[in-house]
Amino acid sequence: MNPDADQVAENDDLLAALLDGRFPDKRGRFGSFGGRYVPETLVPALDRLQAGIDRHLHEPGFQECLSAELRDWAGRPTPLTPAPALGREWGVEVWLKREDLAHTGAHKINNALGQAMLAGMLGARRVIAETGAGQHGVASAAACARVGLPCIVYMGSIDCERQAPNVDRMKRLGAEVVPVTSGDRTLRAAIDEALRDWVSDPVETYYLLGSAVGPHPYPYLVRELQAVIGRESRSQIMERCGRLPDAVIACVGGGSNAIGLFHGFLADRDVSLLGIEAGGRGGGLGDNSATLSHGRPGVLHGSYSILLHDEHGQIQETHSISAGLDYPGVGPEHSLLASIGRVEYQTASDDEALDALDQCASLEGILPALETAHAFAGARRWASQNPGKTVIIGLSGRGDKDMPTLSQHPPKKDSR
Ligand SMILES: *Cc1c(COP(=O)(O)O)cnc(C)c1O
Repeated sequence: MNPDADQVAENDDLLAALLDGRFPDKRGRFGSFGGRYVPETLVPALDRLQAGIDRHLHEPGFQECLSAELRDWAGRPTPLTPAPALGREWGVEVWLKREDLAHTGAHKINNALGQAMLAGMLGARRVIAETGAGQHGVASAAACARVGLPCIVYMGSIDCERQAPNVDRMKRLGAEVVPVTSGDRTLRAAIDEALRDWVSDPVETYYLLGSAVGPHPYPYLVRELQAVIGRESRSQIMERCGRLPDAVIACVGGGSNAIGLFHGFLADRDVSLLGIEAGGRGGGLGDNSATLSHGRPGVLHGSYSILLHDEHGQIQETHSISAGLDYPGVGPEHSLLASIGRVEYQTASDDEALDALDQCASLEGILPALETAHAFAGARRWASQNPGKTVIIGLSGRGDKDMPTLSQHPPKKDSR
């Protein structure tokens, strides 16, 4: 075989391992990515969590309770909405998977509710969470209130100021918000602080991590809880169209909404999967948070994955107009999917995202989150190269939370 054929065969093997559940393996690896790079003191807590997942997550009783709560409290299934005006404008058929209509306004509730219920099963007495922009903190606070567990949210002190309304929302939902003044005083420091808290009491405390990142088993756990997005989308498009879409497109921060949506279509080799990262102001150092487009392998928050760091291992500053994409890492499963070419990752800039947001809002009457707007910008570019085809866009969340940012960028008249 020539080297190319070897590479194709190896990539096929890696995808097969992912599809038939051999990844993550016993060491928590997706191919060479993932694993557990944590202090010795955290290992028992992660082992306990793994044992709890093995025992409860796929057990019919737990799945039944979770499905009932997702339906009755969180509003699932979310609709798959046709977007005919956007489709006419772009020359393709567009469907939107409406996670903005899930309780608390984004996909994050799927993960927060599932983990809060798991915490209850494991006998935890308190739940801790980290948050950047506050969206995961709000989802965690709501889920913990519903499950009846106290919730403590670590949040960088800079983020507390930038996102004051979300701090108030969390407090109203009964959570305690702890401002973190160490490190970079944003999401990265908040995760470090949550991990420290967890180490000090791994039995009574449950750590509710917010994206498909971190040490094993979190990337797996979060993906399993978000996979409901892809399962619903696949059966909804089959019911409405009688066939699969040509492409499925989602925005990628840590990667939880994208991995959940993509999982419904990974085995369908004819469906193109496209992840859109935050291209920010451009390709320069510190101007974006496009991890898979500009990053290199390394370790962050307990996991080996692609990340934005320099040759000395210093994590780079990141920038994005959307707080939820502004993270220098990405989940290990995405790093595998990028390396084997099953998912293509591209970027959309701040300006492209704003433009796409205005287009969706004015043509379809739906104001997407700024994170989500990156997926729309990517879809618009895809459409220009694929006339007449069909696409599902993961509408990960609603944009009301972004009004303070949006009011600094009035809509251009020509966006429709
Ligand atoms: C948090 C957030 C994201 C980014 O997180 P992922 O883990 O990459 O999904 C995307 N969209 C919305 C609406 C969010 O709130």
